[in-house]
Amino acid sequence: MAQILDGKTAAAVAKAAITARIAAMAVAPTVVVVQVAGDPAADRYVKAIGRTCSDVGAGYALHQLPADVAQATIEALVRQLSGDAGVQGIIIQMPLPAHLDSAAVIACLDQRKDIDGVHPVNAGVVANGGSGLVPATPAGGMAILRHYGIEVRGKQAVVIGRSAVVGRPMAWLLLKADATVTIAHSRTANLADVVREADIVVAAIGKPRFVTRDMLKAGAVVVDFGINVAADGTLCGDVDTANVLDHVSAITPVPGGTGPMTNVMLIENLLAVDLRPLPWKD
Ligand code: NAP
Repeated sequence: MAQILDGKTAAAVAKAAITARIAAMAVAPTVVVVQVAGDPAADRYVKAIGRTCSDVGAGYALHQLPADVAQATIEALVRQLSGDAGVQGIIIQMPLPAHLDSAAVIACLDQRKDIDGVHPVNAGVVANGGSGLVPATPAGGMAILRHYGIEVRGKQAVVIGRSAVVGRPMAWLLLKADATVTIAHSRTANLADVVREADIVVAAIGKPRFVTRDMLKAGAVVVDFGINVAADGTLCGDVDTANVLDHVSAITPVPGGTGPMTNVMLIENLLAVDLRPLPWKD
């Protein structure tokens, strides 16, 4: 039977360490979330960030903007927060509504406070194998593998999904950890054959139970980032977990796998914020 890579346990351990670090600081750092109203799922996510901050003793504030907010208004807010010495971490809740230019909003963000790792400079550092502000979801996936002592070096890894926030950065992190990495996507030919080669399979697709038993090599390790509502209304991942448990060696469950780690990694990033002047700026 597969080992269940329980994210709640891993998150609790990481949270305890973070709480102790914040308690030892003279002034607790503060996270500010900028959210455009209108998405109930985002409301829940933002509330969870607030809870995590309060659990670990970090400051938290939410700026909720109206659904029809103007580009200039949200840009001005992000610039103001970027220049505010009392704010150490800024999260712009994505996706923004279609009438807004997300890239232009992100460009207003001080890259040093970008604890969600969305600024192109931080994304570029991660893609180049550097260390810094890594997107929280893939950082959490790697932290779970580390927590359970799963060896990545030398392994064949296939990441299904190439989004900027999950699939791509997960591939860079696996590469940095010395896996041999393939990135698969919706145009990958013979996807099942590609995935079947993998010792480590990462699913970041957004399709309920898309990865089936026949696509997985016996003994593979599976990291499932999917958060989907199945036809019967239950929450499920991108992997057909119930039918692969006696086939794979380890798997993150949904819920309770990668999800609980994400917010903890945001706070890890918050503690890594370095506000020294940039060499070419200020
Ligand atoms: P996304 O931006 O929609 O990207 C989905 C990726 O899956 C794309 O690269 C797409 O390929 C690929 N894909 C779609 N259909 C496919 C198919 N039939 N075969 C192979 N690849 C296919 O989604 P995302 O933001 O990365 O999120 C992925 C999942 O993770 C979602 O369920 C989301 O809810 C979840 N998520 C979880 C967390 C967490 O904390 N655990 C955080 C964020 C997101 P193309 O590029 O070719 O279109």
